[in-house]
Amino acid sequence: MEEPGSIDALRGEIRQWLAANLPADWRERQRGDDIPSFLTMQKEWFAKLVEAGYATPHWPKEWPGGGRPLAEQIAIFEELARGGAPRMSLFFVSLYHAAMTLCECGTEAQRAKHLPAILKGEIWCQGFSEPGAGSDLAALRTRAVRKGDHYVVSGQKIWSTLGQFADQCLLLVRTDSSGPKQAGITFLLMDMKSKGVDVRPIKQITGDEEFAEIFLDEVEIPVENLVGVENEGWKVAQVTLSSERGLTLVELTERMGLSLWRLVEIASGGGRDFSAIDIGTRREIVGIASRIEALRAMLATLMANRIAGREAVGDASILKLAYSRLSRDFTALGLRLGGTASLCDTHYTLGAGYETGNWMFDFMNSYQYNIAGGSNEVQRNIISERVLKMPREKLA
Ligand SMILES: Cc1cc2nc3c(=O)[nH]c(=O)nc-3n(C[C@H](O)[C@H](O)[C@H](O)COP(=O)(O)OP(=O)(O)OC[C@H]3O[C@@H](n4cnc5c(N)ncnc54)[C@H](O)[C@@H]3O)c2cc1C
Repeated sequence: MEEPGSIDALRGEIRQWLAANLPADWRERQRGDDIPSFLTMQKEWFAKLVEAGYATPHWPKEWPGGGRPLAEQIAIFEELARGGAPRMSLFFVSLYHAAMTLCECGTEAQRAKHLPAILKGEIWCQGFSEPGAGSDLAALRTRAVRKGDHYVVSGQKIWSTLGQFADQCLLLVRTDSSGPKQAGITFLLMDMKSKGVDVRPIKQITGDEEFAEIFLDEVEIPVENLVGVENEGWKVAQVTLSSERGLTLVELTERMGLSLWRLVEIASGGGRDFSAIDIGTRREIVGIASRIEALRAMLATLMANRIAGREAVGDASILKLAYSRLSRDFTALGLRLGGTASLCDTHYTLGAGYETGNWMFDFMNSYQYNIAGGSNEVQRNIISERVLKMPREKLA
């Protein structure tokens, strides 16, 4: 019998809720090649999660669903992933990056305007990266000049996830170039419908348009949209960048575990009969399964340390590296076992994680984890310099 109020009870509650609420046909409805259908499906699913309180466990307790400790937040992510629910792709930046930035660094007026709007479906994107500023984000050059009660902003952003659907943007701009590059950066909230904003989706090798470029030509942004202090936006950006607290990796690892069966199915000709698979392939599948289990165990330790406030520098980098390598090997095996049929499989389901079973799509998509959230090379720099205490990289 599960103790009321325990994590196990919460898990049971979510499973029951999923049994009653998960649309059986969501994968068909959330196709990447049918954008209106993708948007409708995501919005419907988001509204259900908000209503149940599962979208906002990390928000402060005065908000519906809010005030849950990190251990419960993890359980929610795990159960939704294990239950094969859609990812919250369209609303992730709104719920985490935007909401947490506003909660920690925004003004009362900004919170009052945007937090209720987010719960009703306001979509946010993150306008940080630029063509010359990714790993070295502080090199950003998009310029903002204050004129009376507004800033005038010109420049270009890139790789903004689902930026073409966004209502609002978390924007980093340069307001001063005279000192060190981290100083002189300012954090603004930009209405994507402002005059001078031109959003262009980027077509990827997968066929997907998951990112957008944002061109800014003398866009006027009211000073009331400043977050924190002018020229001190770098500190605010750190809050934004740490807002998801490793939950994405927890979720993606669970989704990969769920998809293990797809490897068995494809290797055994459609069934789930492990004994029908040749010994060499079995070894390969078990090898992947063991690595998923190892990653789960390491993640559990990382999250437990995070909850206890004793996370070691570099732990998250080690896990991120392990995940990105595993996701490549996992999907490469699926692609090989699936033979030529998988090479031609172009159907995909936006926001589905790895349970698509469309191996060509999943394999190509796995490369994004070499880059997202800090590239593998940048993670290796962190590990070598901060964990192994090797000499620091000489910066230009
Ligand atoms: C899935 C995904 C979602 C994203 N979403 C957003 C978003 O919503 N908003 C946004 O603003 N940005 C987003 N990005 C952009 C992301 O932040 C950048 O792609 C990332 O910071 C890398 O920057 P870059 O692409 O300019 O590559 P660069 O920084 O130019 O790197 C190019 C290569 O050089 C290597 N390199 C760079 N510096 C070093 C170094 N010091 N030592 C060794 N090697 C190095 C890198 O590892 C890489 O291989 C997203 C990216 C991905 C993949």
